[in-house]
Amino acid sequence: MYLRGVGPQRAELLKKELGIFTFGDLLLHFPHRHIDKSEVRPIGSIATETDYVQVRGLLGPLKLSGGKPAQRRLTSTLSDPTGTIDLIWFQGVNWIHRSLVPGARYLLYGRLSFFNGKAQIGHPELELVSGPEQAPKWALEPVYPCTEKLRSRGLGPRAIAGLVASVLEILSDHDIAENLPAAILEEFKLIGRRKAFLQIHFPKTAQEFLQAQRRLKFEELFLSQVRICRLKIRRHGSSRGFHFSKVGDLFNRFYREKLPFQLTGAQKKVLREIRTDTASGHQMNRLLQGDVGSGKTIVALLSMLLAVDNGYQACLMAPTEILSRQHFSSIRTLLGDLPVSIGLLTGNIKGKARKQVLEQIGSGATRIMVGTHALIEEGVRFHNLALVIIDEQHRFGVAQRAGLWSKSAQAPHVLVMTATPIPRTLSMTLYGDLDVSVMGELPAGRKPVRTLHCGEERRHAVLGFVKEEVAKGRQAYFVYPLIEESEKSDYENLMKGWEEVRAYFSGTGYGISMVHGRQTPEDRRAQMEDFVQGRARIMVATTVIEVGVDVSNATVMVIESAERFGLSQLHQLRGRVGRGGESSTCILVTRLSPGDPGLSRIRVMEQTNDGFLIADKDLEFRGPGDIEGTRQSGVLDFRIADISQDRLILEAARGAVIQLLTRDPDLREPGHASLRSYLEGRKSAWSKIS
Ligand code: ADP
Ligand code: MG
Repeated sequence: MYLRGVGPQRAELLKKELGIFTFGDLLLHFPHRHIDKSEVRPIGSIATETDYVQVRGLLGPLKLSGGKPAQRRLTSTLSDPTGTIDLIWFQGVNWIHRSLVPGARYLLYGRLSFFNGKAQIGHPELELVSGPEQAPKWALEPVYPCTEKLRSRGLGPRAIAGLVASVLEILSDHDIAENLPAAILEEFKLIGRRKAFLQIHFPKTAQEFLQAQRRLKFEELFLSQVRICRLKIRRHGSSRGFHFSKVGDLFNRFYREKLPFQLTGAQKKVLREIRTDTASGHQMNRLLQGDVGSGKTIVALLSMLLAVDNGYQACLMAPTEILSRQHFSSIRTLLGDLPVSIGLLTGNIKGKARKQVLEQIGSGATRIMVGTHALIEEGVRFHNLALVIIDEQHRFGVAQRAGLWSKSAQAPHVLVMTATPIPRTLSMTLYGDLDVSVMGELPAGRKPVRTLHCGEERRHAVLGFVKEEVAKGRQAYFVYPLIEESEKSDYENLMKGWEEVRAYFSGTGYGISMVHGRQTPEDRRAQMEDFVQGRARIMVATTVIEVGVDVSNATVMVIESAERFGLSQLHQLRGRVGRGGESSTCILVTRLSPGDPGLSRIRVMEQTNDGFLIADKDLEFRGPGDIEGTRQSGVLDFRIADISQDRLILEAARGAVIQLLTRDPDLREPGHASLRSYLEGRKSAWSKIS
């Protein structure tokens, strides 16, 4: 309101339309591009391929035409010694008519179009030229995000640029105080803060703009990393955790008598990390990233046995009913006759059965619980829950993760397991407060899944291939996209596919099961079970099979309309095959014609089985907003940084933060005073966010 050119009414508009309340907000309202106004062209040199032009000349007579207000238009021309160009306005005609001076010299900037073969500019920006040679106000003029409403009240991008310029004039170096330590500025060759704001809005050269952008991105990522890392340090320092003092009988007996295979080096390493965490007296917060098939379940089970050995309860949460049941039954099988009681709780367990389960949880009779998020619902009270394992975390919201804490007076240890390798940039920002374990090794003897792309037209060959494999005694999946289970056309495609597969395999006697989201849970379970037991040799399904399903005899997966899936999702699906010793194949069927850009994504799938690489690519292709589970998190609401592009800056910033906080966790050093006071000034804002 107090800025020259604003006042109460416009201040209100800026608030409403752009969320700009303060000078600071205005500085953070970054231009989305700049236009080069350093060049003034002769009108005669304008050619059809020109996009935006800046010319200077004399304004011709103004002509108003059209009757009704909606049809009125204003036309004129601009001429210089080399030629003449037509100008036209459709809106705000009267006002523009009044404000222009025919015969005067104007500097014009606008977007060129051609009408009846003649160059014309609609709604040009015009600036009266007073002196003979006037340099443009800004060589690179910022263009700001704006709204129609603001435009109509005289607060278009140009006016906003004027406001930003006045703010920058008013504010001194002291007002836009440096918040990064001098040593950091030097190490990373970053320009100062005030200079950066000046150059991001009004750069003289492209180089200046890039310098400013890099500095401000670094600042933003650096500050968010400081916050995340301090959270982690504080948690390590203060929060008490359940103390698992010993490795007991259950763990040892299971290890010696029941474990069906040798653990991989990676599994052992992660178990050691968990053992160390849970014996430290602090609460564990660990993220376990292990590619599909790397054997996370057994790590979860051994960790839970550790909790039980120490007299506590543990639980394992999975995102779906199917997966919970599968975990429950495989864990029960693995445990065999070991004396430990395990329970299952999902949304479908109701009434008397549910009541009974709840009692056993409450009394502590059940030591290990497996289930869906039903486990953290109202009314579930554990006796002494000390370890929570979340499988496939990305499907749990952040709020659900937080909900776990209310289950017990003391925060349980938390192990988050994900098979969707999270791109490094994302895990640094979303889970930067967690310790991270990576299982980068698959159990010995696995053969990588061979992946092939196949056009629609060759589907008969695909079916033939599947038939051969099944004839060898193997099992096969056909997967259809059903992103929204309610999508009608998707559902029809699935049914068509099912008919087609059934017709093709009729007479072979192979059972075919089908799983999708519209079935009742009982139906779905029965169909699943048929496939798991091998009664059905072929499964036609939607992505409900995506997570965790484990049928090691399945060696073929055909993914229909593969171009509609995200890369990480394709990788997840593909992980359902190649789980046994046989070599497996995944066929991606698409309708993409040669040269379609979508093919480059399919190529990635053909070329690598490395989930981390795929996750990084996925982030590149889709941008961070689309990665599952991050959308509403707010953690990624950066103003200028973009973690799908700025990985290098993020890594540099994180490295610098870790180094800095290791040496000076409380920011006591004089060189860190500016950073500290900046963070303290921001505290209220941060706490609101978190
Ligand atoms: P994921 O990490 O995808 O959850 P699972 O825990 O489901 O993987 O394990 C995949 C398969 O590998 C299972 O059939 C499991 O029994 C088997 N497995 C796990 N660890 C080993 C190992 N060390 N050696 C051999 N097979 C293993
Ligand atoms: Mg799993």
